[in-house]
Amino acid sequence: MTTDLAAFARDKGIKYFMISFTDLFGGQRAKLVPSQAIAGMQEDGAGFAGFAAWLDMTPADPDMLAVPDPSSVIQLPWEPEVAWVAGNCVMEGEDVAQAPRNVLRRQIEAAAEEGLHVKTGVEAEFFLLTPEGDQISDPFDTAEKPCYDQQAVMRRYDVVREICDYMLELGWGPYQNDHEDANGQFEMNWEFDDALRTADKHSFFKFMTKSVAEKHGFRATFMPKPVEGLTGNGCHAHISVWDAPGEAAKTNVFATDKGEGPTGELGLSEKGKHFLGGIMKHASALAAITNPTVNSYKRINAPRTVSGASWAPNTVTWTGNNRTHMVRVPGPGRFELRLADGAANPYLLQAVIIAAGLSGVHSKADPGKRYDIDMYAEGYKVRGAPQLPLNMLDALRAYDKDKELKAAMGDAFSSAFLKLKHQEWASFASHFSQWEKDNTLDI
Ligand SMILES: [Mg+2]
Repeated sequence: MTTDLAAFARDKGIKYFMISFTDLFGGQRAKLVPSQAIAGMQEDGAGFAGFAAWLDMTPADPDMLAVPDPSSVIQLPWEPEVAWVAGNCVMEGEDVAQAPRNVLRRQIEAAAEEGLHVKTGVEAEFFLLTPEGDQISDPFDTAEKPCYDQQAVMRRYDVVREICDYMLELGWGPYQNDHEDANGQFEMNWEFDDALRTADKHSFFKFMTKSVAEKHGFRATFMPKPVEGLTGNGCHAHISVWDAPGEAAKTNVFATDKGEGPTGELGLSEKGKHFLGGIMKHASALAAITNPTVNSYKRINAPRTVSGASWAPNTVTWTGNNRTHMVRVPGPGRFELRLADGAANPYLLQAVIIAAGLSGVHSKADPGKRYDIDMYAEGYKVRGAPQLPLNMLDALRAYDKDKELKAAMGDAFSSAFLKLKHQEWASFASHFSQWEKDNTLDI
């Protein structure tokens, strides 16, 4: 179904459209287009200088156009005269190969050619901070174990309720909200959906949460580890694969090989196991995308937090319903990848899951031995499971070495991503820190 955006504007009283795209660093960029101009923009797209965003372009490149995908349009619940619409980046009539939404669309097509349709849900944890971002917004939120804190969640009821009400209005099927495991941290869950729809919703959720927080005088952050010593912002992904997209999906092919009840270990079908095998095989490399910032590596491989657990993995292991591993199989027909964090690009996160999973299906990858142990307490007993990268540079090197994953994600994407991320690492590495003075001044 193609939505005519000009008609949508007339029906809903929209005055402006934000034609939005997401760059390689996860930055969301938009032009505000008056409704009077939307019909032309729907055809031709809104023009951008690609060099001005993180897309590895030059100032000499021609205009990049973000062509709105009308199926993604959302009227802003907090500013109803404005609508947001995700754009697909195009240059000189061709899709921009490294633009994240295009990278994901290619993965979805590749999976569909094999009759596989990935559905995912994401758990985008966030903190509410003061506007300066230097402390949590609620000075009374100090419990050692603040998870599910009923008093603290109600002190931020105005923010949480407003966001949840909007998700209800948008028909996302939100079903629970809580105070998370760090002081100042929250999580809000909505229903899983097709990978592209989840990526669009995930992008919009970040935009909406930041906007509502600002309205209430706070600052929302999805930064992986915004407060030293406290649990970080994860972005766990729940993954299943179906026989058809959208409403047409009838059979969860992760749950069953024969169209009957769940089969296989922990209720994961052969295909499900191979898909998981691909994630396990490529884990160290895909961390460059699921955990894309310098700060990401303060969340994984972290020492014990004030609450007693980091809830983040440090080793490439999987298990049943146990939250101390990188992958948890909580029930038949799906698994949870607990690696990704709040800095993960919503489109690249989904794309790399599909790319790694499909590679596992092709090679009939084995996810390896399952460890049903408490990894935080007994992880030292595991022999031979790879450690996750210790920092962003290790992750980038692991990605660069993984020729299969690089090619599956697309050579143009992979080289643009690696180039910009290596520049970012170089910038970090040349930064002088207090730690160096504290530890080296008197050497
Ligand atoms: Mg959580």
